Amino acid sequence: MMAALQAAWNGGDVTLFESNPAVGRKLLVTGSGRCNITNDAAAAAAYTCADQNWMEAVLSQFGVQDLLSVLSEIGILVYKTSDGWYYPLSNSAHTVVDAFFSALKSANVKLCTSTRVGSIVHNGEHFSVRFCQDGKEEEKAFDGVIVSAGGTAYPSLGSRGELFPALERLGHVVQPNRPALAPILAELGDLRPLQGVRLDMGVTLWNGSQPVAATAGNAIFTEWGLNGPAVMDISHYVTAFPLADLELSLDLLAYFREEFERLLAQKRKTTLPLRVFLGAFFPPKVVKIYLKNAHLPEEILLERVSDRALEGLIEKLKNTRLRVKGVRGFEYCQISAGGVAVTEVDQHTLESRRVKGLFLTGETLDVVGPCGGYNLQFAFSSGAIAGKAAASRLGS
Ligand SMILES: Cc1cc2nc3c(=O)[nH]c(=O)nc-3n(C[C@H](O)[C@H](O)[C@H](O)COP(=O)(O)OP(=O)(O)OC[C@H]3O[C@@H](n4cnc5c(N)ncnc54)[C@H](O)[C@@H]3O)c2cc1C
Repeated sequence: MMAALQAAWNGGDVTLFESNPAVGRKLLVTGSGRCNITNDAAAAAAYTCADQNWMEAVLSQFGVQDLLSVLSEIGILVYKTSDGWYYPLSNSAHTVVDAFFSALKSANVKLCTSTRVGSIVHNGEHFSVRFCQDGKEEEKAFDGVIVSAGGTAYPSLGSRGELFPALERLGHVVQPNRPALAPILAELGDLRPLQGVRLDMGVTLWNGSQPVAATAGNAIFTEWGLNGPAVMDISHYVTAFPLADLELSLDLLAYFREEFERLLAQKRKTTLPLRVFLGAFFPPKVVKIYLKNAHLPEEILLERVSDRALEGLIEKLKNTRLRVKGVRGFEYCQISAGGVAVTEVDQHTLESRRVKGLFLTGETLDVVGPCGGYNLQFAFSSGAIAGKAAASRLGS
């Protein structure tokens, strides 16, 4: 939608093909229906891709402020949370999709919905796009093509990787898709009773004795492992090591280590029950389970706990290890890793380095941003640059 809009605003005669009956179907479910549209911290270093300089060039051409000004131009106002996550003022993804739909209409973009593109062939000067509409196969010629067909995450919303074979035939290398921003399957062991509990924590992924990735954020214990931004943000590393012996370490003190140590030093020699001390930091269920696993009675007073037992408990709170079994599948992940490496397209135009006149954007490219609006920012940035570049290149 952003690519089509920018191409039309810059003089292009644009047709947008969408296999769903309406545009923006996936946008509707983002941010749990609120659409977490971007993030103040959306800088190159936050993304995993083949070349960080490439990403920097993209975001410096069309970054957070550029996105906010286009959004405001088409009628979307935003607010941001204290940690820099942006949402529409309406708190509704519907209003975002509606504003894009209206802007596309008034820019005279031809919307071909319920239309599935099957193949894209480059015939010297032109592209021949084959598509299926109302059960009828048709073919049309275009001067240029922007592929913004997503990856393979949440296939029920339209992106199923259908255009990757066409991109391969056009000369691109497509890295196999893997779930990313996905819940992690892990053996909870002693922590099984914590199902349903949500906590802020530090999380590190280990491959044997090597730390692979680390994050901090909110995580939820579930029947099959862990969900929430803290684990989703590192899930693409799990799928990158399919045969490895992976473990997660959870640091429940990550967010208040100093306060914990200060209060402990104050109360260590007092009659404060250990349960009450831990209750200053954790919900009762967590206190109960960690005390049980450390074989400490709930009523024990801090002055009566041996140094060894206390160190053991603190070590568990800082470093509980869980065996990783994998991640949940494409139906449950927010994006897919894999696709075409960013280095196969020009960072100033998003034009293919293999085929002139072909542009690739968003999740079709192999880019993983964390939860928090980073992936929409990249989809919008790459779409805006490609749309503008396609119109000016093809119009010249
Ligand atoms: C549940 C969920 C929540 C999310 N929440 C957030 C969030 O809050 N913030 C954030 O930044 N990111 C979020 N994301 C990720 C974000 O939605 C994606 O990064 C973004 O939508 C990618 O944009 P895209 O244009 O590349 O691909 P898509 O949004 O997947 O769009 C691709 C479009 O191409 C169409 N298409 C595909 N193949 C064809 C074909 N052959 N012919 C015609 N049309 C075709 C599809 O129907 C689809 O409409 C979330 C994702 C999910 C699944």
